[in-house]
Amino acid sequence: MLIEKINKYLTEEEKITDKSISYEVSLLSQWAFERQFCNNEEPASKGKLRLSAAGQCPRKLAYAYHGIEKNGKEIDGRRRLTFFAGDVSEITITLLAKLALKKYGGGVLLATGREQATVKFKVNGIEIEGHPDGIFWDFQKGRLLECKSMSDYSFRELEKGEISEEYLAQDNCYLDALNFGECIHIGYNKNNSIMFEKIVKRDPKVVEECKKNLLSVLISTPEKLPEPKYPEPDEKGFCSWRCLYCPWWGICKPDAEKVLIGKAYKLRPKKQPQVLIPTTKEEPENKPKEQTISPVQQRAIPIGLKKYNIKSKVFMEWLEFNYQIKTIGEIPESKYAEICDWIRDTGTILSDHKEELIKTK
Ligand code: SF4
Repeated sequence: MLIEKINKYLTEEEKITDKSISYEVSLLSQWAFERQFCNNEEPASKGKLRLSAAGQCPRKLAYAYHGIEKNGKEIDGRRRLTFFAGDVSEITITLLAKLALKKYGGGVLLATGREQATVKFKVNGIEIEGHPDGIFWDFQKGRLLECKSMSDYSFRELEKGEISEEYLAQDNCYLDALNFGECIHIGYNKNNSIMFEKIVKRDPKVVEECKKNLLSVLISTPEKLPEPKYPEPDEKGFCSWRCLYCPWWGICKPDAEKVLIGKAYKLRPKKQPQVLIPTTKEEPENKPKEQTISPVQQRAIPIGLKKYNIKSKVFMEWLEFNYQIKTIGEIPESKYAEICDWIRDTGTILSDHKEELIKTK
């Protein structure tokens, strides 16, 4: 829809003579440069929610919303450069689309660059603001325009029709706020400058999910934060890549560590130190040995067995099964009384049954 026109324009036009466009690119590039490299202060996020983050982890959003100090990956120099290059390419593509439409017709691009619209998405009566890249008007209906520079991997996914959940959430919130049905989602491959566009249709289910996500942040407190979106490591034992880039992973996942796997860093739970559980064989060395029964008590056992007519073999089997003892001399002092009770009770039961048997005979 727009990509075809932009490519045609770039092929046919040797030079862009529209000075108003180059002027706008210069102003917006300055803004992007200052945003990444000159402003020491990051924009205050405490008490604020951005619509572009509607699909992100609610725990992460809540950390920012409540002004909780960061303890994780901050944006480093390389990423600032990446973001700056991304901002400039997105600005340029949007303005090229404007020029192409001017030349070939078929619609106009509105609310771009410095004139971006502010849209409001309502969550339980609270308005959350966002700034779409542009609005395409084909003289019949309006469509949202979103332009994203992306990695080769994300671009190939987009070509297959897959769009990241964060972008899908952002597109849908803007569509809902504008009451539009479709978004022209342009992807720009940072590796080879190829562009691809996909039409994203408004999905009420995604809109509803975004509302729930944002509401869970709005009603949270620093003491009661929303559940993390990525609580568990994947099947390979690594945390989501989103957690690695989360400025709060140190708080959310205090037991995680950053490790270099091949050429890339990953986050994974630290290996727990092995707790050595002493085996039952080692225990007795430190444990005081229990007092066994006296020689007098040892002699009393066979007398009791004889008195109650209990076979020694039966008694020894019972002793081993219940106390893991093989000789009478090993019987602990503490168990003597209950063993004597067993001899008496068993002998009584046996004699009762004997009398019954004799009677029934
Ligand atoms: S570390 Fe992961 S799960 Fe925790 S807040 Fe950040 S993104 Fe969410």
